[in-house]
Amino acid sequence: MKLLVIEDEVKLAEYLRKGLTESGYVVDLAHDGIDGLHLAMEGGYDLLVLDSMLPGIDGLTLLAALRKSKQTPVLMLTARVHVDDRVRGLQGGADDYLTKPFAFSELTARIQVLLRRAAPAQASAEPTVYRVGDLEVDLLRRKATRAGQRLDLTAKEFNLLALMLRRQGEVLSRTELAAQVWDMNYDSETNVVEVAIRRLRNKLDAPFERVLLHTVRGMGYVLEDRRP
Ligand code: CA
Repeated sequence: MKLLVIEDEVKLAEYLRKGLTESGYVVDLAHDGIDGLHLAMEGGYDLLVLDSMLPGIDGLTLLAALRKSKQTPVLMLTARVHVDDRVRGLQGGADDYLTKPFAFSELTARIQVLLRRAAPAQASAEPTVYRVGDLEVDLLRRKATRAGQRLDLTAKEFNLLALMLRRQGEVLSRTELAAQVWDMNYDSETNVVEVAIRRLRNKLDAPFERVLLHTVRGMGYVLEDRRP
């Protein structure tokens, strides 16, 4: 799931990017309304988080321009508590509203609701449920089961599994996993990838007969069902 955050307060924008990335989303940032509108019109986003007070083009104007051609779900943020602004935002085509300051958990809860609501319309864009052998992962609901048993994964473990599922059958290097899941350059001094892979295996493979996550020596890891 790819989100665009349009927020001119750089610290808040970075905080949102970090938090949402850790929650498993791919996040792009725009720091003003002009860049934001440009990116939003290019499309490819599952949801927009849109601040109402922005330099360049303000949030409501941006929303009006966007809505002429795109129905991407929009969650608006505002520092103002006036009912007027909320009403204008919702009338202008925002799907939900959040007043600053807000709890990060409330933001993610609302994002999940909007994405779920939008899912049928966007079902063709990317599958949200993946299966390998008896493993089933619902990316939207962030739920993984194997042989019908729920796997209790941390956010990072889930993100790691989701990436490997999207690219199943393909060998992924530690460098690529580090970049995609941790947004960091892989450094052979750190064993963050190995540790996460080990933890994921303990939950994903250890309790079950058939191994799905394989090590390819000298290359990396691959997720596949090697049933003969
Ligand atoms: Ca602002």
